[in-house]
Amino acid sequence: MHKTIIEPFRIKMVEPIYMSTPDQRKQHLENAKYNPFLLHSDQVIIDLLTDSGTSAMSANQWAGIMRGDESYAGAKSWERFQQTIIDITGFTHILPTHQGRAAERILYTHLGGPEKVFISNTHFDTTRANIEYTHALALDCPADGNIHDNENQYFKGNIDLHAVEGYIRHYGPERIAAVILTVTNNSGGGQPVSMANARALAHMCQQYGVLMVLDCCRIAENAYFIKHFEEGYSHKTYREIAQEMFSLADAAVMSAKKDALVNMGGFLAMNNDNLARECTNVLIITEGYATYGGLSGRDMEAIAIGFEEVFREDYLNYRIKSTTYVGEKLHELGVPLIRPIGGHAVYIDAKAFYPLIPTHEYPGQRLACDLYLFGGIRSCEIGSVMFGKYDNAGKLIPARQELVRLAIPRRVYTQSHMDYVIETFAMLMELRNQRRGFSIAYEPPLLRHFTAHFVPLG
Ligand SMILES: *Cc1c(COP(=O)(O)O)cnc(C)c1O
Repeated sequence: MHKTIIEPFRIKMVEPIYMSTPDQRKQHLENAKYNPFLLHSDQVIIDLLTDSGTSAMSANQWAGIMRGDESYAGAKSWERFQQTIIDITGFTHILPTHQGRAAERILYTHLGGPEKVFISNTHFDTTRANIEYTHALALDCPADGNIHDNENQYFKGNIDLHAVEGYIRHYGPERIAAVILTVTNNSGGGQPVSMANARALAHMCQQYGVLMVLDCCRIAENAYFIKHFEEGYSHKTYREIAQEMFSLADAAVMSAKKDALVNMGGFLAMNNDNLARECTNVLIITEGYATYGGLSGRDMEAIAIGFEEVFREDYLNYRIKSTTYVGEKLHELGVPLIRPIGGHAVYIDAKAFYPLIPTHEYPGQRLACDLYLFGGIRSCEIGSVMFGKYDNAGKLIPARQELVRLAIPRRVYTQSHMDYVIETFAMLMELRNQRRGFSIAYEPPLLRHFTAHFVPLG
């Protein structure tokens, strides 16, 4: 057996990376007010801002794009899309949507409302926003140990079943709109959820008559962890594992921009006929007719192909091993990070990386800016810039953690790109005790991380 794991694809088409010097990047970052979201993409060398919608499509998917049937109703591409999703999810009703949050809006607007309560392992930000927009309550129940660095504890994405039962009893089952299990747990560090945890949750939901929804954006990546780290699954295929997990839920929402290997798309799937009818009515008013939702025929064709490709053994092996490779190399360098490494991203603990930068000077923003200055690498602060709030006296209430996420796009970068990222961290390690943080010069009232302006301190 070879030790070297190669990318299981050849490159048929290339997209240039525009190289830059540290001096040029200094200027670009100043122009962007020290907010990497405000950089132009051609000023970035390696873009690890997100894994959402950034996948490279296969030759087969591009061929599907040309085959796309753009008929308004009953298109062949719709039939292919629908059948693929039925085969994998087992659900009877499939509603195409333009992306994940549209599926969430349709389902959670219908289920939500002022008296309603949603429970999740961790609500993703668009999930929480769509729920709170209906004035319902969104409660997070991550299992213990979520935030600790404990490499031996897999399935840190699990939901805390005790806490879920407590909430169901406290509010009464009739007020619980749904329990949402997100796999992998994106906001919880991309950590996987075990089948045992999903099954126990399904039993509990059945017992109380509560709807169980699977947010299945990264269900293929989650299946990898179950096969390799949960007892009793090593002989099953990734697809079979995903099918088993789908069979536990009553409905699913999907952002195809993740594990369907496309740049845009999503779906909503369920078994209940009445719920499907209600949701289809909203779909037709706000997204599009029932056989295309917000999608072109060619988009549905590419999703149908990508959602099959993602379960291939060689693909998932490359995908998870290459993410782990980055994390473990950084760990060897002494970079503090969340372990075990999740499926789609590596999360750096910026507070531990820059021990001398206080929380109110945003160590995560410093690290994101330094990765850009020294390597042209774009990452995403997930700390007090994104989640910090102010108390009445205007003092910062920091986030739980100061993290920087390196999200790895699927099939886009090679190992040498990642070695370059690792080398950049080695350079930053030398400067850990010399860097200062930022103050905020401008911020909007909501979602400030996208557009805030920063001023470097010293
Ligand atoms: C990306 C994501 C969504 C939202 O999907 P969009 O396609 O970006 O609208 C919902 N849930 C999770 C867990 C996600 O990662």
